[in-house]
Amino acid sequence: MVDDRALTALRGHDSELAQAAAALAIGGVADPWQVPLGDADRRLLALHRSATGRDLEVTVTCASCGTVNTAVLAPSTVPPWEPRSVWWGPGCGLREPVLADLADLPSTGAALELLRRCAVGPLPLDAEPSAVELVDTTLAGPLVVSCVDCGTSIEAPVDVEPLVLAALFRRLDAVDVEVHLLAEAYGWDLATIEALPGDRRARFASIVAEGR
Ligand SMILES: [Zn+2]
Repeated sequence: MVDDRALTALRGHDSELAQAAAALAIGGVADPWQVPLGDADRRLLALHRSATGRDLEVTVTCASCGTVNTAVLAPSTVPPWEPRSVWWGPGCGLREPVLADLADLPSTGAALELLRRCAVGPLPLDAEPSAVELVDTTLAGPLVVSCVDCGTSIEAPVDVEPLVLAALFRRLDAVDVEVHLLAEAYGWDLATIEALPGDRRARFASIVAEGR
């Protein structure tokens, strides 16, 4: 289980990319900027489980019957990451982007620059920026589920990286509320409260909240 205090490292970063790198580091990755994007998404799902005790859930409302369906996104429910590359010729091809490849992309021509960064050997003259999609193993795109009630196939756009980061920030906010409740109710200092195991802190905080 990842300690809540470790998660506070996320707050030191403004960009989503830097937050993702920090999250991977919290999850134990030694060189997060060199992690392929598809691998990173699976690792973030594992971190979500480790930090919150549950898997990431996405709700999708059925347009036909209005039923709210819940899809669980976990390392065990998504296709495993497998390295992917494109072979263009001898000594020439395309590798999957790593986190560092997304850093400081220009606002115009970003797709072409990403293609250049991921090219192995010389870039063919006729290479299209869209070729990067061939090496995309991220968990971003439409999620298709069958409605549990009427069976209609429904689609929802899902992007695991921002979803996990948002969930981790919600977790941090919830911990702040718990700490505040305990400090107010018992007069304990921050160090004492933060030294409590997360489940005990949450339990005490819920007792305080119930007593209000
Ligand atoms: Zn339905």
